Amino acid sequence: MINYHEAQKLIEEQTKPLIAIKLPLMETLGYTLAENIFTKHPIPMFNSSAVDGFAVNVNDLHLPSSKNPVSLKVQAVIQTGDTRKHSLKKNHTFGIMTGAVIPRNVDAIVMKEDVAEIDGTVIFKTLPKVGINIRGRGRELSKGDLVLSSGTIITPPVLGLLASLGHATVKVYRKPKVSVIVTGNELKKFSERVKIGQIRDSNLPSLLAALQSLGIQAEYGMIVKDQKSKIKKAIHKTLRKSDIIITAGGVSVGDYDFVKDVCSSLGIKTVFWRVAIKPGKPLFFGTKCKKLIFGVPGNPVAALLSFYLFIKPTLLRMMGQTEKQNIIQTAVLESDLKKRAGRLEFVRGILIKKPDGKLVVNPTKGQDSHMIGGLANANCLIHFPKEENFISKGSIVKVELMNWVEQ
Ligand code: AMP
Ligand code: MG
Repeated sequence: MINYHEAQKLIEEQTKPLIAIKLPLMETLGYTLAENIFTKHPIPMFNSSAVDGFAVNVNDLHLPSSKNPVSLKVQAVIQTGDTRKHSLKKNHTFGIMTGAVIPRNVDAIVMKEDVAEIDGTVIFKTLPKVGINIRGRGRELSKGDLVLSSGTIITPPVLGLLASLGHATVKVYRKPKVSVIVTGNELKKFSERVKIGQIRDSNLPSLLAALQSLGIQAEYGMIVKDQKSKIKKAIHKTLRKSDIIITAGGVSVGDYDFVKDVCSSLGIKTVFWRVAIKPGKPLFFGTKCKKLIFGVPGNPVAALLSFYLFIKPTLLRMMGQTEKQNIIQTAVLESDLKKRAGRLEFVRGILIKKPDGKLVVNPTKGQDSHMIGGLANANCLIHFPKEENFISKGSIVKVELMNWVEQ
């Protein structure tokens, strides 16, 4: 059985960013830039006022003071958006709004709050510095500067910057097409009645939601019975339209666990089956041409953690986010942990910061693989190393923060 890092590496070797596509700007949120963005003109494009106030030529103010204020006549008021060319006459001032173009002969803007206005005349009591309150052309960026690098995630501010640069379309990495197939004769939709012996399917909703949190709407999501022919039909059908298929359940050693057999009958090459981790040991990973197939175990915690630890990083890499990794830090364990040596265990935990700044972690209640409550109430995973069987209270442990809703 391979270990966690070997499994991660084998998956990584099969994963590359998908091709770049051009999308209208407003459809790019959450995608990754597939091009470097350079400025086509200086930013800002023109000198403008940084405040609402009065535009002056400092030479017209002859050292004003509160005892000897200087009055200037208002020549006109310049609104933001005014595209006309204005020129200041001697011993005059313009009323000017934030963002309006600086007229000719103006070298300072005095804030409205610092002057008195009487009948079309403005009284100045202090001498402004040359250049004050003027946003200079090109002060932020010069023409041809690199503003955003390929690989940047398009967040609202990035999108705003692209808009301000006039990018109506943007080159981004395509998002993977993903289908989810959950297997099990016992499964009913969450909206249906269940009899003793049946359970409500939680894997399809939670896996679809996990995809949604990355901005991916699954191509297909289906519940299939534990029958070879039905599983085969489902995988065959979805394979054509997907880059990734996630199956859940039926991948262990039970008499009705058919996923692996079906995969091989469809020409899917097994890269690995079983990883020395808990939960999630029976994880299957296979490929067919460039398509990836993840067979996650059916226990809800194992299914979701397999997604979190292996599938999510894969999706992010395909989306061009090569740098993104889960954050691992250390904390003080507040209760003893026990297990059998041989598998790396991801103990679901609650990490908190004490008032003195110390990070402490406690396992949640319900640590079995079928107890989704223990995962739902956790905010982190405590890494319980493979060869260890006991960690005492007070020890320093590695803790991986879980972030299910993006980022
Ligand atoms: P399996 O991996 O198919 O052997 O299933 C392992 C355990 O997970 C069994 O107790 C199943 O009933 C349960 N299980 C499988 N699929 C789901 C599902 N979609 N939702 C909730 N529990 C499931
Ligand atoms: Mg099953």
